[in-house]
Amino acid sequence: MKILVTGGAGFIGSAVCRLLIEDTDAEVVNVDRLTYAASPEAVASLTTSNRYRFEHTDICDSETIDRIFREQQPDAVMHLAAESHVDRSIDGPEAFVETNIVGTFKLLQATRRYFERLPPARRQHFRFHHVSTDEVFGTLGAEGAFGEDSPYAPNSPYSASKASADHLARAWHHTFGLPVVMSNCSNNYGPYQHPEKLIPLMVTNAMRGRPLPVYGTGMNVRDWLFVDDHARALWLVLNRARPGEKYNIGGNAESTNIDLVRSLCSILDDLIPNRPHRNHADLISFVTDRPGHDLRYAIDCNKIRRELGWKPLETLASGLRRTVKWYLANHDWCERVRARGYDNARLGVLEPAATP
Ligand code: NAD
Repeated sequence: MKILVTGGAGFIGSAVCRLLIEDTDAEVVNVDRLTYAASPEAVASLTTSNRYRFEHTDICDSETIDRIFREQQPDAVMHLAAESHVDRSIDGPEAFVETNIVGTFKLLQATRRYFERLPPARRQHFRFHHVSTDEVFGTLGAEGAFGEDSPYAPNSPYSASKASADHLARAWHHTFGLPVVMSNCSNNYGPYQHPEKLIPLMVTNAMRGRPLPVYGTGMNVRDWLFVDDHARALWLVLNRARPGEKYNIGGNAESTNIDLVRSLCSILDDLIPNRPHRNHADLISFVTDRPGHDLRYAIDCNKIRRELGWKPLETLASGLRRTVKWYLANHDWCERVRARGYDNARLGVLEPAATP
């Protein structure tokens, strides 16, 4: 089985590529534009495999995507390429509209052109897996969880762009018969996540004795999932979901942001006790909240557990410890990401809208 993975040099996409090459016999064509968020190091170990190929391409470049489909003849698409950081979507929403909406539209069209020319036997097994987020459902109060049929109510430019992409993918199934499967997942964490995201930001700042900026009161709740557990779920959905089907994926691991940051601090206290910054929790500082910050996300993932037999292998405690250890051991990777232009600046603070 040959799979065209978009965004395969990103945080989750690279975990998917590693899973496919290391634990299955699938072939992978990784299509990635290599934005600031990409980490070529995360797929460097795969480049010696003759089942792995990298195409440095923008999903909006239809001509090149058509050429890749023609030459590579994939059996499936796993679509993960996206602009993914909510704070950046507040500062610069246009890139989110461009990649997440227009890019998904163009990819769906290219896939359709390819799919419609496939012989019937190959068409029957072809899948387009659209990878999305629980943020499309908006925010929850203290109770309840998002199900597959929860109404869409995106609140940030990021989640609105992902919601739009979900609707396009759904429509391409219903109108054009493209065999789309979809999944909406909760917050991921693990190795190779860009240090602008909450967990790596806190760990890398704490390692350097820098303040740990917690938004608002820190009482926002997220449901955390270790990235390799997500990758395994995606592989199952790709292989087992019927066209038109969607699955929610989550870790059943809710935590307030402040509790999460305190947990990271105590893991660091334990792993690097002789640092001058112990107790690391003393570095916590509360900063102005993110505009429109959703209060709580929680995922009901009974459907994928029941129908596909998936469950996460990491608990939040084991996954966080594993992640902190990885960042401690890969300090040079964090430095390289910083050297590529990330300076820890606070993002997503409201500025007046730019004139067009
Ligand atoms: P990421 O930002 O780490 O990686 C995105 C990758 O897409 C990068 O390698 C980037 O170079 C590539 N890319 C961006 N624009 C592109 C374009 N126009 N053409 C080709 N490649 C492009 O993102 P991630 O955290 O790995 O998320 C992957 C997917 O999973 C996204 O669709 C995201 O919405 C979804 N998701 C993420 C989470 C999470 O917690 N990170 C949770 C649920 C769903």
